[in-house]
Amino acid sequence: MPLRSRVAVRNVRAIGIDPVAQGGVAREDEPWAWDESRWRRYVERVRAGRSLKPQAWPGGAEVAVAISFDSDHETIPLRNRETHPGKLSQGEYGARVAVPRILRLLDHHRVPASFFVPAVSALLHPGEIGTCVAAGHEIALHGWIHEWNATLDPDTERDLLMRSIDVIERLSGSRPVGIRTPSWDFSDHTLNLIREVHLTYDSSLMADDEPYELLADGAPTGILEIPVEWIRDDAPYLTMDRHTGTRPYTPPRELLRIWLDEFEQAYRERGLFQLTLHPHVIGHRSRIIVLEQLLEHIASISGVFFARHDQVAAYLVGLDSEATTRGSEMTGSEIAAS
Ligand SMILES: [Zn+2]
Repeated sequence: MPLRSRVAVRNVRAIGIDPVAQGGVAREDEPWAWDESRWRRYVERVRAGRSLKPQAWPGGAEVAVAISFDSDHETIPLRNRETHPGKLSQGEYGARVAVPRILRLLDHHRVPASFFVPAVSALLHPGEIGTCVAAGHEIALHGWIHEWNATLDPDTERDLLMRSIDVIERLSGSRPVGIRTPSWDFSDHTLNLIREVHLTYDSSLMADDEPYELLADGAPTGILEIPVEWIRDDAPYLTMDRHTGTRPYTPPRELLRIWLDEFEQAYRERGLFQLTLHPHVIGHRSRIIVLEQLLEHIASISGVFFARHDQVAAYLVGLDSEATTRGSEMTGSEIAAS
């Protein structure tokens, strides 16, 4: 640390003001004072490894389309300790009105989807889980009560993950293979926990448009990432909080233009178009029309592989193990020629 900073810290301490206790940051802990090994350690903790974008999608499709819904319902207000009926009713709308509306639309276009469901949401609406499963959709993990993982100690995060798996397995009839961390809040311990419980994929990170393998401190983990992005999420465009300055500024139909552009580019790149929606956000009358028109457009195009997130993951994991088997069976000269 430069001498002047050391003197400044000493002076502050001398007059009895501890910058950390005051809610500040000790000067030596400022990010610009970190040594290289420290910032490298943070960055390397979880990193994108090799791309798992396939040479071809099933059936020779040009593009894969993976639609997902985070069925948060009442859990976000509960997580925020907003326990009064007014706020909770907004989440209740998601389960009562929006999910049935969404399921009718998916059924009409025969589109399979993934539903990421907090365990408390599943316990509040067990019938919804059964209905989604019966319609052929995936139920995957989305925390216990939409907790912020980065605020938890590892034991608490593990406990909530274990309890969530038990609830989702019991209500859906099968053990979940994928997770989306609530609010995409992926802690320093999340990847280790995902490996510990042998999930196949995560869908919370943003280092690519295409699926990739996650690295932990530089080492491959075998965990597949199906990346998300706020651009392909309804909530940032449409969410309103009356107590803050947060107000929707995008007319719903504008989202159609943004997501069609995302889809068209994915098609050109023969890649993946992934979308994250929330029943209590997209499920309203003036908004469901966006999803309706998006699906109508995509369904009118040939060469689309509509898949749940677990199906995308299974396909890519299958390709990868085939390639590994082929590789191990090849002779040295075959590998050199390939
Ligand atoms: Zn959520």
